[in-house]
Amino acid sequence: MAKVSIDISGGKLKAEDIIVGIDLGTTNSLIAYMEDGAPKTISDFGKGAVVPSVLYLTPEGQWLVGEEAKPYLLMDALNTVYSIKRLIGKSFSEVKELQNFLGYPLKEDLQSNTANLSIQDREFTPIELSALILKELKYRAEHRLKTPISQAVITVPAYFNDEQRNATRAAGALAGLEVLRIVNEPTAAALAYGIGVHNSGTETIAVYDFGGGTFDITLLKIEEGVFEVLSTHGDTFLGGDDIDQKIIEYWLTQNTISMNTIHEHKELGQLLRITAERAKKELDNTASFELAELSPEFPIRVSLTKVELENLAQPLVNRTLQACEHALADAGLQVSAIDKVILVGGATRLPLVKKEVASFFKLEPFDKLNPDEVVALGAAVQADILSGNRKDLLLLDVTPLSLGIETLGGVMDVLIPRNSKIPSRIARQYTTSRDGQVNFKINIFQGERELTQDNRSLGSFELRGIPAMPAGIPKLEIRFLLDADGILKVEASELRSGVHQEISIVPKKGLSDEEVEKQLMDSITYAKQDMEDRKWIELREEAKQLVLHANRFLSQHEGLFEETEMKEMKKLIEDVNQSMEQKVPSELQTKIETLNQFSQPFAEKAMDSAIKNAITGKKI
Ligand code: ADP
Ligand code: MG
Repeated sequence: MAKVSIDISGGKLKAEDIIVGIDLGTTNSLIAYMEDGAPKTISDFGKGAVVPSVLYLTPEGQWLVGEEAKPYLLMDALNTVYSIKRLIGKSFSEVKELQNFLGYPLKEDLQSNTANLSIQDREFTPIELSALILKELKYRAEHRLKTPISQAVITVPAYFNDEQRNATRAAGALAGLEVLRIVNEPTAAALAYGIGVHNSGTETIAVYDFGGGTFDITLLKIEEGVFEVLSTHGDTFLGGDDIDQKIIEYWLTQNTISMNTIHEHKELGQLLRITAERAKKELDNTASFELAELSPEFPIRVSLTKVELENLAQPLVNRTLQACEHALADAGLQVSAIDKVILVGGATRLPLVKKEVASFFKLEPFDKLNPDEVVALGAAVQADILSGNRKDLLLLDVTPLSLGIETLGGVMDVLIPRNSKIPSRIARQYTTSRDGQVNFKINIFQGERELTQDNRSLGSFELRGIPAMPAGIPKLEIRFLLDADGILKVEASELRSGVHQEISIVPKKGLSDEEVEKQLMDSITYAKQDMEDRKWIELREEAKQLVLHANRFLSQHEGLFEETEMKEMKKLIEDVNQSMEQKVPSELQTKIETLNQFSQPFAEKAMDSAIKNAITGKKI
């Protein structure tokens, strides 16, 4: 029930805000709230709690949302939108290959490089369409609870990057919701089971989330009511929809129908999708599924046995188990260290999935709560924590890829390593390499490679107006603050002068989990080459600095050198310069040492005379 309180400043009565929890899913979305200390999903009168993430644009230009829109997947495929979550916060180039999978056309927004949906000669952004789903959920909750809803917690897959999280937040704002927190779905699922709430021991938990479009595996450590994500792995292109796709392909080969036919007859494609999903669900409890004809318009016979389904699904399930192995390896854990496994997502209803997960973890999985609802329920628990009702829980998440800045020569300097807990903050000091440098460019990167050219640029900014000082004197402090939503703020200050500058990172392009995976694989494949490149670059930078200082020394202390010594010194400097051209580290190292050895006595002489001058200059 909504509580009523008095706004002391205005003296007005106001309904105490209910903060709702929302699972904005690829396939299905739900909204939940706390009632009498327990999370509950909100169902519309007569309808279920699940709102299909489907939208239909009527010929009159009105949007239908959810269950009402679903039949049009079949009847009017070109004007019906689904799987928007696959597009949100992503660039056109990342999603254009989805064109054949999606029934509706995509168009590139040339300004933002994002993918828009082109329907009835109008263009829509994934953000505004996601907002329509959120509005529908908000409306349901308001209708049911009879109070305005303005604050929410929204869940996203653990692998969502900053841009996808920001885009989800933007969709919330467009729907009239203040998004108090973006929470990882697996984290919410653990909360829904109340794990850690009544238990003060330490537990390690695996959350296996196999939904319609995404797969996530997250390992959580829960200690004294504190949730900590140990590692997270997954695939935003692996879900129950892909099982449907395999069934469709199977039926097409059986009936010798080509994929082209599907592209020409969009309705056939949608009909096959719906039938494939129906077969998959029915086979949870039966041994075979059969239709003598798909429809009067498309008189194709389709049949599937449970064994055939399991053969089709097995490779996909295996991929989820591989991700589980990765997550364990990342956390440095053996399977035996996992105390509990939670099943999340509609696809975990497949008996094959339950069986495989149980045998992988050697545990009977938690599946008491409806796997479709568990994330929304957990989001409501998180909302309750934020509203201050639950002081017993604190949430920590992790960052999937390392964050850092570019230092001299394009070397990646990691400030926040991959799988660090968030929120997280770190400061590190740097200095300038050139005399009188008044501007300092900060390039921010994400990735696991040693050189920034192989990592992903997140953005850059310039710290301007540093007073001119000799190289090495300015104290530049760079601070990285990664907030609870996984959004990065970078601050830079020159400590001697107090010059300060900061940015929040809203990257231009999204990072798919394939890219995360590729980054990790590449960092292993190229580890040796990367280390060698890095060592070379660092050596070359050392050489550059040495040449700079040696030349400066020569011009300032000409008097210390005989003519032949001067000539020799210049030759040695030239040797170093030439060695920098050839990439032979041992040779450059030798040349650096030779120059250092030769110049050492002169440096000492210069020092002695400087001290002598200082002493003679002193008056008692
Ligand atoms: P998402 O989180 O991606 O929105 P859900 O968790 O709602 O998705 O899961 C939707 C997926 O679950 C769909 O692929 C659907 O076909 C599948 N699913 C739902 N019920 C069953 C079932 N009884 N057996 C197998 N798969 C199911
Ligand atoms: Mg889900």
